This record gives sequence, C-alpha cells and structure tokens, in this order.
Amino acid sequence: MRNLGPAPMTTEIETVRTVADLRARVSAWRARGGSLAMVPTMGAIHEGHMSLVRQAKGLAGHVVASIFVNPLQFGPSEDFEAYPRGEARDAALLAEAGADLLFAPGAGEMYPEGFATTVHVADITEGLCGASRPDHFDGVATVVAKLLLQCGPDVAIFGEKDYQQLLVIKRLVRDLNIPVKIVGGAIVREPDGLALSSRNAYLSAEERETAPLLYATIQQAAHALAAGHATEHALESARAALEAAGFRVDYLEARDPETLARLSGSVATARILVAAFLGKTRLIDNVPVPPRA
Ligand code: AMP
Repeated sequence: MRNLGPAPMTTEIETVRTVADLRARVSAWRARGGSLAMVPTMGAIHEGHMSLVRQAKGLAGHVVASIFVNPLQFGPSEDFEAYPRGEARDAALLAEAGADLLFAPGAGEMYPEGFATTVHVADITEGLCGASRPDHFDGVATVVAKLLLQCGPDVAIFGEKDYQQLLVIKRLVRDLNIPVKIVGGAIVREPDGLALSSRNAYLSAEERETAPLLYATIQQAAHALAAGHATEHALESARAALEAAGFRVDYLEARDPETLARLSGSVATARILVAAFLGKTRLIDNVPVPPRA
C-alpha cells in the first residue's frame, strides 16, 4: 500500500468521542446563535474531503467533521480491516481545511451492546453499487441517520464522488424528516483525472498508471451522449475500452441524474456511473451529461 503522506505540522483540532460531548459542544455554539455544518468521513483524509470541509465553512459558522470507519457498510469480504487509518494525520488535515471539531467515536459508542436498528432506503439503492454490495446502503443510511441525529447540523456535505450515496442520503433525510439540508460537493481529481479516493492507496504503480483511463473513458462517453449517440452504443464502446486496458467492469450505466432511473436511446441529460476493478481494487467514478469540460 502506498503511503498517505506526511501530516502537516501546525494545526490542531479538538476531538470528541462521545455523543454527549458532541452535543455539549454543539449546544454551546447554538446558544451563541451559530450555524453548523457537518462533513462525515471514514478518515484517510485527502483533498476531496478537505474540499468538502472548505465548502462547509462557506455555508455555516462552525464545521464538525466526523471520522468513523463504519463496519456496517463493509461486506464480509471487503476491506474493513485493511481500510487506511491514521487519526493524528487526518485530524491535522481536517483542521487545516477549517473544521472546528472532530467527532471520532469508537464502535462501542455508535453500536453499543444490543443495537438492533437498521435504516433501509428502497428503490434508489437498487442497482449500481447496491447490486454488487448488498447491505452497503443499509450500513450507510443507518450510520448517516445516526450522525445527523447526534450532531443536528443545519447542512451536511457529501461528495458527488459517491453519487448514488448522495441521492440515498437526500432520500433518507426527506423521508424521515431529518431537519438538515444535504449539499453535494464536486469531485476532486488528480491532475491526470483520477478521482481522489482513500482506496487509490491500494493501487500498484502499474495500476495507478492505468487508473486515469476510468475517468477519460466515461468522459468520452459523456461527450458521445451529448453529441446525440445512443447510450447503448456509447456505453458499449466505453466498456470495451476499459476491458482492453485491464479493468474488470462491475457496472457502467447511464442513469437519470435525479432518480437514477435507467435510460436508453439518445438522451440530453444523464449521469454516467461506473465501478470497475483494477486488480483487487474497486474504483468508482461518475460524470454528468452534458459534460462539464
Ligand atoms: P469517505 O471517507 O470515503 O466515506 O468519504 C467521505 C466523504 O468524502 C463522502 O461524502 C465522499 O463522497 C467524499 N469524497 C470522497 N472522495 C471525494 C473526492 N474525490 N471528491 C469529493 N468528495 C469526495
């Protein structure tokens, strides 16, 4: 695994580990009339997470970032144990981006003995990542519902990188009347186009060379759709290009950007979503149609 890089040396952030301490801190801000934004993460902080914190800072007076590697959203053969962890480095980067407080609960605080509740969002969780990662979105919906209720922010920011997740969370909040505005953050990419992801650290040097083709290929498909080509043809070419480069495609689809309904033929607006393995590493990405660049 590649190194996540050195921690910055200067910044510090207050860290709380219990819901009671989080609420005490939030209540004190609220008493002074302050607004609050939340940025949930699983740590292994990179520029993508930091951009969400900066965005949050522009939307509210105080920003709470959370780090919790949520066991409920990993399948039995997935990378829960191997997921990169390094709280000191993460805390420094979150502080540098402008977070005011870090909420980093342990598993016992989030799921104490006897925990028995699951939040299930239907429809929008079916297909795409929901098809290849059964129970994943139940884990996400359950932990995000808890985090939002624990913290009570005015606004919470989630990256478009996990596009289906963002829509699942919007639906969750709407359906359960959780009083928070969900805002999407743009995908931050490496200069070569690869979307930043904590899982990029798993790529070998050779796989890392190939990885930017994922974005380049779906971007090309987005241009083809915008030019009036049928989705079936554009996606077929894209799939062939990815397989020729050594990707194992999990899914590659054009969906309605709001409902994720399947699309076919020629379309004016869509979201192209892809998940593909390079070796053992599963990468996801997505782009809008019409394309932004
Ligand atoms: P994670 O720590 O992977 O659970 O991600 C925490 C939040 O950061 C989620 O809302 C992700 O969608 C978001 N995120 C992850 N990677 C990126 C990226 N490259 N650009 C923007 N947001 C991202």
